[in-house]
Amino acid sequence: MRDPWKRSREYLERSQNSLAGGVSSPFRRSLPVTLFFQDANGPTLEDVDGNRYLDYALAWGPLILGHKHPVMVEAVRKAAERPHNYGAQHELEFEVAELICNLVPCAERVAFTSSGSEAVQIAMRLARAFTGRNLIVKFEGHYHGWMDSALVSYHPRLEDMGSAEKPKAVLGSRGQLRDAAEGLVVLPWNDLDAVAKLFAERGNEIAGVITEPILCNSGCLMPIDGFLPGLRRITSKYKSVLIFDEIITGFRVAPGGGQAIFGVTPDLATLGKAVAGGLPLSVVAGRKDILDLIIDGEVVFGGTFNGNPLSLAGAKATLTEISRDDGQALKDAATHGKELMRFIDTAGQSAGVEVRTTGHGAAFSVHFTGHSRLDNYREVLGDNRSALRAWLRACLEEGIYLLPDGRVYLSVVHSASDIGRTLEVFKKVLDTQKIASESIGRGNIDPC
Ligand code: PMP
Repeated sequence: MRDPWKRSREYLERSQNSLAGGVSSPFRRSLPVTLFFQDANGPTLEDVDGNRYLDYALAWGPLILGHKHPVMVEAVRKAAERPHNYGAQHELEFEVAELICNLVPCAERVAFTSSGSEAVQIAMRLARAFTGRNLIVKFEGHYHGWMDSALVSYHPRLEDMGSAEKPKAVLGSRGQLRDAAEGLVVLPWNDLDAVAKLFAERGNEIAGVITEPILCNSGCLMPIDGFLPGLRRITSKYKSVLIFDEIITGFRVAPGGGQAIFGVTPDLATLGKAVAGGLPLSVVAGRKDILDLIIDGEVVFGGTFNGNPLSLAGAKATLTEISRDDGQALKDAATHGKELMRFIDTAGQSAGVEVRTTGHGAAFSVHFTGHSRLDNYREVLGDNRSALRAWLRACLEEGIYLLPDGRVYLSVVHSASDIGRTLEVFKKVLDTQKIASESIGRGNIDPC
């Protein structure tokens, strides 16, 4: 039988001889097959074997305008003809800062850096400096980048996690500082009582609470009613800093991010991915009395590429595009996503497959599970992983490219006919029972 991914497999073998692991991020190895790409346009990807896919991975989120959107191409082309980095001040910095301050509710000031992992480091440092306290509360299953001080209890193994009431802080990598988790307390997400109890005991030690407003990194779980407002109330009461990690949700679920759709304004937010439509840029945004600690180098951070003109040109184009018509393009993307979600939920039922979706239309996840509630990381561990793998593979064979953890991202360029084609594939895949016939394999979820 012809191998449709022959060249990708050959490229991986070659790549492994020079590039560590053969890929530029270990998370990228976990697809059904490690694909190499040669082109992409709008919502479509083309691999080196000439296979074409509708892209619902979108480079893990940034491509909110799809691939090679005309406004991005024009912005980057113009920027390419101008100086690429001054390592000093230029106009685009305050232009993009102003755009963000206009869009994101918490943003009175912003600071730019290049990756989400860096932005989280600055936010946590600011929270500690502002409060003079050391502890940051983070939640199980949330990802805040790969740095030593944040890669804790991201996707801990069942046997390492401790009890649900008192989760253990579990390091995420070999080679991490042994005491990396010392400045963190890990709690179960969506459990306001656990947060209130911790604050009652140690509130005066807690510098801040960091949370993804939608738990995109463990199955796009939504906050239960009252959870985010509760975090706001408790952190305000104890004068701790509330940080929303909106690296994924920012400029995706709405121009103002999760904080806009949930109506809860954090003190600080980290933004990345979609902000520059695919170019490397991340942002810390928030209260001016906190961000202004950066003035005079009181709170130190640096970065050779901070505020580089190429990334900011991409950001200006992207933010202008998504904020047009009161953010209608993002609303449409969310509507398309909701259509896919509804379809999977009902088609799964009629095919007799235990499958359901969670999330927001613009970012949602497919879970093969009989659980009616999915509110935190531990509940997602009950998902049938082998059914998910079979689904991902079947979708890939049919030209639908999804993230390896079953996440689905929409862009503003997925058209109604793209969605129609996707629905047909989902139906075919569910109907053929490829999934249902898979053996049950529950357990730890893959890194993503
Ligand atoms: N926070 C969240 C919520 C993320 O999803 C990610 C990346 N997936 C990061 C931080 C880290 O961002 P980066 O990969 O740009 O370092």
